Amino acid sequence: MLKTRFTELMGIEHPIVQGGMQWVARAELAAGVSNGGGLGIMTALTQPTPDDLIKEVARCRTMTDKPFGVNLTILPSLRPIPHKEYAQAIIDSGVKIVETAGNNPGEFIDMFKAAGIKVVHKCTAVRHALTAQRLGVDAISIDGFECAGHVGEDDITNQILIPLAVDALDIPVIGSGGFGEGRQLAAALALGAEGVNMGTRFMATKEAPIHDKVKQRLVDAGERDSLLIMRALRNTSRVFRNEVAEEVARIEKEKGLNFKIEDVAHLVAGARGRHVYDDGDSEQGMWSAGMVAGVIHDVPSCKELIERIVSDAEAVIKGRLQSLVA
Ligand code: NAD
Repeated sequence: MLKTRFTELMGIEHPIVQGGMQWVARAELAAGVSNGGGLGIMTALTQPTPDDLIKEVARCRTMTDKPFGVNLTILPSLRPIPHKEYAQAIIDSGVKIVETAGNNPGEFIDMFKAAGIKVVHKCTAVRHALTAQRLGVDAISIDGFECAGHVGEDDITNQILIPLAVDALDIPVIGSGGFGEGRQLAAALALGAEGVNMGTRFMATKEAPIHDKVKQRLVDAGERDSLLIMRALRNTSRVFRNEVAEEVARIEKEKGLNFKIEDVAHLVAGARGRHVYDDGDSEQGMWSAGMVAGVIHDVPSCKELIERIVSDAEAVIKGRLQSLVA
């Protein structure tokens, strides 16, 4: 068993968190991860309204009695999003753990802390982590350049980001981005992290509520199958390398300084990407996936995956690492 400040803080068995993923992180997945001893997270904005979010939290409670959380991401969007109403719905749902992500979450962190909720803030830079610590969050999920979705604009990998974050912060830090197996968990712990956050890896699990063909696509994919888009808008996203993503990248290059979101809105819309998960055609829209695809080789249950990762990490620590010490 791997006991860390993060497992103690959250009241969970294993130092593994399932990151909030738009369209994917629903009750089935969060409950599967929490039942497996990790921390499952549902994504607020996947629900069409704040009321639906309250119902989804209640649905998750019927599937697990273990702790789970809700992700609230604040980023530019094509449709107006009432973030404050979603934040209030999270509070009203009685959830005790929130993962915040994106820009300027201060107002929401205040709301959650006043309601006695533990907050993990996910960010891609140490300077943002320091601000979040000052605002009173309980832990930081530091998101390296390997991650899927919004990678930030600094392009710093976890090899550098985790030790710098651990040195700069007093609160527990978990590593996020690129994690999917036991050796990597052992490496994150060696770098000073108190656990890991995994998104893409949990997409390829039995409980993930997405089409089996997308899970198989991740098993077949390699570490080079992701692509960065929307750098020109300072909203860089790592997405699965398919025809739609290549087309967005081509338009972005062609337009150069004149590139606007309107040029690609029809291609990048989340509503379109959602069909990939529902229908299983991985070429149909834009969907997020990280470099970690290179180390995804199967589709286990969340519990099998978590237990395998933890026991492999323990074996690395007690076996290989210990044996190297003269
Ligand atoms: P959407 O359809 O509103 O937008 C699609 C993509 O375009 C998103 O990456 C969005 O950030 C980007 N975008 C939209 N307007 C933009 C603008 N004016 N400038 C720059 N970039 C712009 O997105 P959606 O799939 O309906 O998701 C809703 C919200 O959730 C978005 O803000 C999105 O970024 C965010 N999100 C959250 C997660 C998560 O894991 N929690 C993952 C992906 C996206």
